[in-house]
Amino acid sequence: MALRKVTFRLYPNAAQAERLTELLSLHQRVYNTALEERIRAYQAEGTSLNFASQCKALTQWRAHVPALAEVNAQSLQVTLKRLDLAFAAFFRRVKAGETPGFPRFKPLQRFSGWGYKTHGDGWKLLAGDGMKHGHVRLSGVGMVRMRGQARTVGEAKTAEVLHKAEKWYLSVTVECSPDRASGNKAVGVDWGLETFATVVDSDGGNDPVPNPRFLDAAQRQRLKTLQQAVSRKPNKRSNNRRKAVKALAAEHRRIANRRKDFLHQTSAKLVSQCGLIATEQLNVKGMTASGGEYKKGLNRSILDTAPSTFLTLLKSKAEEAGLQWCEVPTRQVKPSQTCHRCGVQRKKTLAERIHRCSCGAECSRDENAARVMLNWALTGSASGQELAEVGSGGRFAVLNHETHAVPALAGQRE
Ligand SMILES: [Zn+2]
Repeated sequence: MALRKVTFRLYPNAAQAERLTELLSLHQRVYNTALEERIRAYQAEGTSLNFASQCKALTQWRAHVPALAEVNAQSLQVTLKRLDLAFAAFFRRVKAGETPGFPRFKPLQRFSGWGYKTHGDGWKLLAGDGMKHGHVRLSGVGMVRMRGQARTVGEAKTAEVLHKAEKWYLSVTVECSPDRASGNKAVGVDWGLETFATVVDSDGGNDPVPNPRFLDAAQRQRLKTLQQAVSRKPNKRSNNRRKAVKALAAEHRRIANRRKDFLHQTSAKLVSQCGLIATEQLNVKGMTASGGEYKKGLNRSILDTAPSTFLTLLKSKAEEAGLQWCEVPTRQVKPSQTCHRCGVQRKKTLAERIHRCSCGAECSRDENAARVMLNWALTGSASGQELAEVGSGGRFAVLNHETHAVPALAGQRE
């Protein structure tokens, strides 16, 4: 069983929209009041309130505030839990020696929504066939029309009502058993700078995924124009400014959707073709560390194409399809510094985009790295030579044996 999130757009009527906004502001007030209580308890008594004690206090608030009494109790607890998690994250980071920001009071515009713990308690999903469109019954709001579709149908577990850019959404966590077919190729994937991803297979093929360029020059100019339209209207109350802000948000949303579609489609296609995927643990933070002009250019394309989101999607789809997933330990294997043919290591600068080795190997830097990772996943060595030496009868015998030992091998080599 797997848990998946399905997001539906909600289409409340005018009265329902008003009620949703009221609920949002009640949850926001509970959140902020609970935060205030925590601060007060700490300053006045030096004690810290925990989730359980705040839930008790909540029962009392509800007894005294009629508007709160009408709100689903579990959903209010979820709001308290969110504050609790914010504090837990804060203390964890303090303990780790970091200097995180203290949990903050949230203005209504920044308050994203609220959640429900159990299906049937405060919310009931009435989706159409194949979990497509339909309605959701929300306690205190009524039957709200919704549009959207689950990729994999399953049992609704928890839900969140989200308020984003003046629109309402319902994000449902669904328990399902997805069946996704895998293929039989073994591939190595390197995260691209010039190309989005370099995909090499065990038959010598190289089938790169080009950069999608969600933010090409024309798109950047569009965003800039919309941004300028906003900043030229300093009066925050003016209708024109509101319109300009809306147009800018809509453009951002369009780009985000296109990016999401691209990432889903590309990862699904790759998984459908493969039986094994070897890649390295991506460290976007390291990749985007401040550097020279060249690196700044790289940073932009890395951030544009969101490889970490892609890796997450690819991994979860690979799990669904049950294919072999191998994350190569980068520091040990050094894919970009090692020759895929002879295994010799030589340090390259980031600007060196071609791999040339004294053994005669010559290909792009990214292709070489992808091949090193694939070799490593299949044979446990960067060049794939050890397997040839023991006379296995073919470089890809490990894969042909349909063994599940490959990921285990990866673990052993840590
Ligand atoms: Zn070589």
